[in-house]
Amino acid sequence: MIQKTLVILKPSCLMRGLVGEVTRRFEQKGLRLAGMKMCQLTDAQLNEHYAHLAEKPFFQRIKDSMMITPVIVCCYEGVDAVEVVRAMTGATNGRKAAPGTIRGDFSMSFQENIVHTSDSPENAAIELARFFKPEEIFDYKLAAHGFVYASDEYN
Ligand code: ADP
Repeated sequence: MIQKTLVILKPSCLMRGLVGEVTRRFEQKGLRLAGMKMCQLTDAQLNEHYAHLAEKPFFQRIKDSMMITPVIVCCYEGVDAVEVVRAMTGATNGRKAAPGTIRGDFSMSFQENIVHTSDSPENAAIELARFFKPEEIFDYKLAAHGFVYASDEYN
């Protein structure tokens, strides 16, 4: 199924100079970049985004770590994009994430783990609406489309 998913390039990605490396991976995989912008996250946005962690002792610290620099929010589209991007992300703790994944290759930390990526199609829709206006998501076709997918795969 064709899906859109949210990727946030976290402050650790920007500060470590990994923006090009991380976006290159998604680009080379064949995902279509449907939206991208730099923004400064707010405490209110992060209260929503990380609501499932509100009871954790490190909640404020995680929110602070997401506001220390601007971030880059990205919308990637592709067949099964949520699962594909999540697999490329790796486990939350960078020390445990498998080599070959973004976190496995670039992170030594539970918190400073380079990217956020949506974990389900339902959350992807909610998160994309949180960070993008509809007009900031673009519909165009990759020039390489016919070489990324077989004719019966893109549906
Ligand atoms: P994920 O980002 O893999 O979907 P979660 O939604 O559980 O993971 O957590 C959101 C973010 O909060 C993580 O990416 C990480 O930066 C931070 N975090 C989660 N659990 C911990 C922890 N035990 N210690 C430090 N940071 C954590």
